[in-house]
Amino acid sequence: MADYKAPLRDMRFVLNEVFEVSRLWAELPALAEVVDVDTASAILEEAGKVTAGSIAPLNRSGDEEGCSWDNGLVKTPAGFPEAYRTYAEGGWVGVGGSPEFGGMGMPKVIGAQVEEMVNSANLSFGLYPMLTAGACLSILNHASDELKNQYLPNMYAGVWAGSMCLTEPHAGTDLGIIRTKAEPQADGSYKITGTKIFITGGEHDLTENIIHLVLAKLPDAPAGPKGISLFLVPKVMVNADGSLGEKNSLGCGSIEHKMGIKASATCVMNFDGATGYLVGEVNKGLNAMFTMMNYERLGVGIQGLALGERSYQSAVEYARERLQSRAPTGPVAKDKAADPIIVHPDVRRMLLTMKALNEGGRAFSSYVAMQLDTAKYSEDKATAKRAEELVALLTPVAKAFLTDMGLETTVHGQQIFGGHGFIREWGQEQLVRDCRITQIYEGTNGIQSLDLVGRKVVGSGGSYYKHLSEEIRAFIASADAALAEFTGPLGAAVDNLDDLTAWVLEQAKTNPNEIGAASVEYLHVFGYTVYAYMWALMARAALGKEGQDDFYVSKLGTARFYFARLLPRIHSLTASVKAGSESLFLLEAEQF
Ligand SMILES: Cc1cc2nc3c(=O)[nH]c(=O)nc-3n(C[C@H](O)[C@H](O)[C@H](O)COP(=O)(O)OP(=O)(O)OC[C@H]3O[C@@H](n4cnc5c(N)ncnc54)[C@H](O)[C@@H]3O)c2cc1C
Repeated sequence: MADYKAPLRDMRFVLNEVFEVSRLWAELPALAEVVDVDTASAILEEAGKVTAGSIAPLNRSGDEEGCSWDNGLVKTPAGFPEAYRTYAEGGWVGVGGSPEFGGMGMPKVIGAQVEEMVNSANLSFGLYPMLTAGACLSILNHASDELKNQYLPNMYAGVWAGSMCLTEPHAGTDLGIIRTKAEPQADGSYKITGTKIFITGGEHDLTENIIHLVLAKLPDAPAGPKGISLFLVPKVMVNADGSLGEKNSLGCGSIEHKMGIKASATCVMNFDGATGYLVGEVNKGLNAMFTMMNYERLGVGIQGLALGERSYQSAVEYARERLQSRAPTGPVAKDKAADPIIVHPDVRRMLLTMKALNEGGRAFSSYVAMQLDTAKYSEDKATAKRAEELVALLTPVAKAFLTDMGLETTVHGQQIFGGHGFIREWGQEQLVRDCRITQIYEGTNGIQSLDLVGRKVVGSGGSYYKHLSEEIRAFIASADAALAEFTGPLGAAVDNLDDLTAWVLEQAKTNPNEIGAASVEYLHVFGYTVYAYMWALMARAALGKEGQDDFYVSKLGTARFYFARLLPRIHSLTASVKAGSESLFLLEAEQF
């Protein structure tokens, strides 16, 4: 596998040339104080060094060794504790954390690039700080000042880690039926009892304490999702002076053996009357969890992109070196026995698909991150509200589309290696295995699609979607004639999505099955259309600069490939959506 190199050039292009992000920062006083183009550039460069130098080298060995469980204790693979310490000491766990509690206070759009780097380097490793950062976010937004002061500084510093305990053996997607109980105690704390499964980083040897955020129900809670509360449950109790006290009544019963992310500990966690503290209000636990989820879901989407990027870096190097057959138009490397496989149209198709999906994904995840920053920091209420609604609309797309495209990309990367992609030696098969979970956890991609169609599009009566379509139309209207080759097909794609959205809104009125029948393919039409917007924005930023640098030639060539070969996928997907739900219900359950 090629050594990982952070794609800093493309990251800077997206931030500074496509989105001119410093303009946004200047409008948001809280960000203007902490970040400018130079600071951002220095941070990204440093993150590139740490991830490539300390974390990427542990990716393969971590996969080979995996985590091990012994009598309740979990050991991460060799090198992980030391690399985690380096990462934590660099302040990377708290890169987006609140400065009031020791975080770096960087905007999400910078955090997103750092996440991409760490996950490209080593997804299993990246999950530990990601879960911690997510837990911090819920604590910051919903916990009492006392809990914030007691827990956040050590979590941002990476001295303590975090976990998110939702899933139970009988309750995955449907959290309304969880059974974990929380019993109120006289001192205001709660005793938490129950079993959680599949808990990422539930137990490990990277930090001296792990702060679990646990969903549980009070004895008198209403049934369903409205009876769920959120609790902070430390592995080791924390004394009033901040020192560590007794071990809490909880433990790791076992770890899972799985297809990928083998160096990430996936734990069964048993809570046996463990002491916990309420975060947010009683019975509003899902709301508090959702604060974390919007960030986490974008983060999981970025994991798909990150693996696609890593796969591309190796595939392109291999395609330039591997000699097989001659180019259809005649020998290219006449002094060699055969031509490098990069001459073959099909290999180019795969490489360009990977490149177009990765770079489109990087622009899209940055765009969503900018909306998160605007929603969080804008002092103008209408601007913040619009950004919040765009985040709500685009989060399921970011989670599901980026990871679906991540899998497609890593499979192309494996295919380019032929048989060498299937064997372990080159590392391409690990990327495929690791990518697969990103489509499943944090809400399956099927559930993300239902969220997009049911809650965000139909649920808002199309008003959230209108923000996006109006923005794209305004861009097309203001674009230079030189961009017509991109804005023409983009306009047609938005017309198609408008029409499809109206169609889905109409169908949903009469048949409840239509939403679920349309959802996954609708999300894909949506994703390809948004990527077309991203590619048109990137083309605008690159056009006219071709003489300066090959980077821009490559960018425009890839934009042309995207519009010619990938965007047309929306036509078959649209036809499939419009075929409706009828054919899904021709068989009785026993006839399958
Ligand atoms: C490696 C790994 C790490 C994980 N980390 C964590 C963690 O840190 N914390 C945590 O709490 N959980 C974690 N999970 C759990 C993960 O989030 C769940 O597995 C996931 O949400 C799906 O739940 P489930 O497995 O119970 O599947 P189910 O809910 O049983 O779903 C099975 C299938 O049915 C579909 N389905 C279910 N309901 C509907 C519906 N209404 N409409 C249409 N389709 C539906 C699903 O899309 C899926 O395809 C992890 C899981 C794994 C494997």
